[in-house]
Parts: sequence; structure tokens; C-alpha cells
Amino acid sequence: MMRTPYLIAGATGDWEVVMGLEVHAQVASRSKLFSGASTAFGADPNTHVSLVDAALPGMLPVLNRFCVEQAIRTGLGLNAAINLMSRFDRKNYFYPDLPQGYQISQYKHPIVGEGAIEVEADDGYVFTVGIERLHLEQDAGKSIHDLDPNATFVDLNRSGVALMEIVSRPDIRSPAEAAAYVKKLRSILIALGTCDGDMEKGNLRADVNVSVRRPGAPYGTRCEIKNVNSFRFIMQAAEYEARRQIAILEDGGQIDQETRLYNAEKGETRSMRSKEDAHDYRYFPDPDLLPLVLDAAFVEKIRASLPELPDQKRARFIAQYGLKDYDAGVIAADADKSAFFEKVAAGRDARLAANWVTQELFGYLNKEGLDLSASPVSAEQLGGLVDLIANATISGKIAKEVFARMIASGEAADVIVEREGLRQVTDTGAIEAVVDAIIAANPAQVDQVRAQRAQGHEKPKALGWFVGQIMKESGGKANPQAVNEILLKKLGL
Ligand code: MN
Repeated sequence: MMRTPYLIAGATGDWEVVMGLEVHAQVASRSKLFSGASTAFGADPNTHVSLVDAALPGMLPVLNRFCVEQAIRTGLGLNAAINLMSRFDRKNYFYPDLPQGYQISQYKHPIVGEGAIEVEADDGYVFTVGIERLHLEQDAGKSIHDLDPNATFVDLNRSGVALMEIVSRPDIRSPAEAAAYVKKLRSILIALGTCDGDMEKGNLRADVNVSVRRPGAPYGTRCEIKNVNSFRFIMQAAEYEARRQIAILEDGGQIDQETRLYNAEKGETRSMRSKEDAHDYRYFPDPDLLPLVLDAAFVEKIRASLPELPDQKRARFIAQYGLKDYDAGVIAADADKSAFFEKVAAGRDARLAANWVTQELFGYLNKEGLDLSASPVSAEQLGGLVDLIANATISGKIAKEVFARMIASGEAADVIVEREGLRQVTDTGAIEAVVDAIIAANPAQVDQVRAQRAQGHEKPKALGWFVGQIMKESGGKANPQAVNEILLKKLGL
């Protein structure tokens, strides 16, 4: 499918939305970027704070090798260049939850350079998003405003936790594409094991840059919406922001480059501060840290250890199991879904397995808002159901009933089929008796079928009516192929 332009109709014509994202992904590391303090979530305030994290005088940061490896791993997973020389800089600004008075980040020389990823849009097309860079930096602490009416407290547990800031090119053209991009990025990070992708805990959050322009015109001035931490909020914030900018421009105004905050309750963005340029931060190389020089062999060793990534998995599912592109993409994007599917498909008709996994099971879980880990039907049980369809013990229609009972009772498919007597009837004698009875009771329809056939209709409409009646009479259990053959024979067609 083609990428269709997403245009917003204004009072004076159409507008195109241009977006680029800066995603902050917390490195899945048990200790911080420059200290040995724990990164465990949910601890009592200020219990995971070393002298370095509190920025006490005389402290010296020591780079965490594991975090460096995770950044390289991520860069390789984003098909990006790894820079064998990178450097840590001080980004100076004052904020109550930043005790150093500067953030250690990478400015001129990030550890990861340019890359690109392929993103599947919900509409079924694929687009490419360029990655400008990935750099390592420290997270800040947290100000707590709601414990005391007259005071603000600060919790430094998160101060110094390692973040990978992943900066995209402005290649995103709609709010839905922005969400699809973050989804894809998240699935790559989870597959790599470099970030747990837990957006509720703030371990993956996006700064969303939005501008608008007339289709094909140069880029407009952008605004950045800070720290958006759900797919839905990314879409809502971007849509609101684009429309806000369009209204200003159509009113003859101009967009001020600024940083804005999204208020999810009101569904609005509001101004936080006018956007700083890089020179406002007075970046300079951190004199406490040597440049980070990597050995090419070290990078290659990490490359050799990469797991199968979602895109590779998708390609394999298409080649190995003959899955449709879209189904393969949906399953491959999620490690748990992939493992579940491969268990169901093992030694079975893979397309049939994929249909049951994606349409029926995932459909049910989505509707109920359940995670796959909470599925009432295991991969083994679903495989058992697929077996019964494949060996013609039950029809696909009866299988849906059986599936509903499996969900309700947690029983295996064969147990339900035997107890409820749901086996498909292939015994021709039993089917013949039903066919005879229905033909005898409906002479008018018999005449109709014969008349339609005489008029040259290869498949008379009235024939379908008979099939329906017979299936109904058999409780849906008659083998449809046998019904057709017997019916034609009895009608003398
Ligand atoms: Mn940052």
C-alpha cells in the first residue's frame, strides 16, 4: 500500500504536518551511567543516590561500561553508524532536580551516528524514518510539588540514570505515523534488551517536534512538546499542536519556536519556555571524563551477539510460514507474540495457525484489554484446536464455538468437542437421511432449483438455501463437502 499524504484542511487551504521525534530510552542497566547506585524503580525517595548523583564537591563520574555496550547494541539495531570516538559534554542549565547544575550528555560527538528504520503504519504501508543520532546522557531527579502546600521536595533516585536519546530526522508526516514510529522503535529496543520500553514508568518517553507547512513548501517553525509517554498522547498532542499552529498562521501570525507541555486531561499543549538554542547551554567537554574511544573489534563482538530483530523476524515469517506481510509484521513486532505464534505453528498449517492467533485470539485479547500473558488459552491449547480443524474433526464454524468455550472454561479443545458431541458428521448415511427429509418437505424449492438449473445457472441460488437448511438441521456438524455432494446427487443434478 502507498503512503497517502495526511493533510489538515484549514480555512485557506491544506496543510501538511512535519514531525521529528527525540525519544529518551532508559538503558536497562541496574546501575547508573556514572555511579554504582541502583536504578531500581519504586524505592523510597533518595535511597539510591551516590555522592556522584548528588553532585557533592569533589565527586568524579566513572563511565559504566555496560551502558556503553547497550548504546552500541541499540545503534546497531537501528542500522546506524557507531562512532569509535565520542565525547561527554556538560550541558549547563539550572534546575532544582539537577544538582550538578549541568547534565552530562554528548553534543558534538555522539556515540551513534546516522541510521534508519522501516516503520509499518497502521494503514498497512511502510515508511522509512532516518535516525540522526543516538547519544548517552544522564537523567535528572524529580521535583515533587504535591506533598506540601508550601514546599517542593526533590527525589534524586533517578538522578544519573543512563538515557539513550534517539533523535529522528523530520521524516514523519502525521500523528499516526509518529505513534507507529515509537511503537517500532520500542519493539526494536525490547528485542535488543537495551530498554524495557515501560512507558508508564517513564522509561521510554518522546519529545515531539511539530511544524506545519503548505504541501511541498520549506519547513515551518517547529514547537517541541516535552516528555509525552503514551502512543495515544503522542497522537493527541501532535494533532492539537498542528491545528494550533495552523490557526495562528491562517490568522496572519507567526509561530514562535518554543518548548510546550501536553496536558492530557485538557487535551491541550501550553507554552513552557521559549526554546533554547544549543549555544544557550554553554556546552563544553566534561574535564572529568576522557573521550570514549572504542575498539572496532569490541563493536563487532556486540554486532555478532545481536538477536533476531523484528524486521528480520517478519521476513522469516513470510518466507518460512507463508504469512501475509501484515500478519507477519504484527506478530514479529512483539517477542511474546512471536514465541506464542511459533509454538502454535510448529508442525502445523502455519497460515491456519496465524489466522487463529491473530484474528481470533488477539482479537479477543484486544477486545478484553488483556495482555497475551493473561490469555485464558495457551499456545498448546490453541494448537490443539487448529489440529481438530486441520484433520476435519470439526469445521471452522464449530471451531469458533469451541474456542469461546475454551476461553470460558480453560479446557482443551478435544475435551469440549467430545463432551458436547461436536464432531463433524462425515457419516454419509446420517447426512443422507437429513437431505432426504428436507427435500421431501420442500417440493416448491426443489422445483425452483431444477428450473434455475434448466435456465443454465451452474450454481442455482436455491441450492444454497438447501445447504443452509441441512447444516442447520445437523447443528452445524455436517461436513459441508459431503452435504454438497449428497444434495446434488439426490436432486439429480
Ligand atoms: Mn535529552
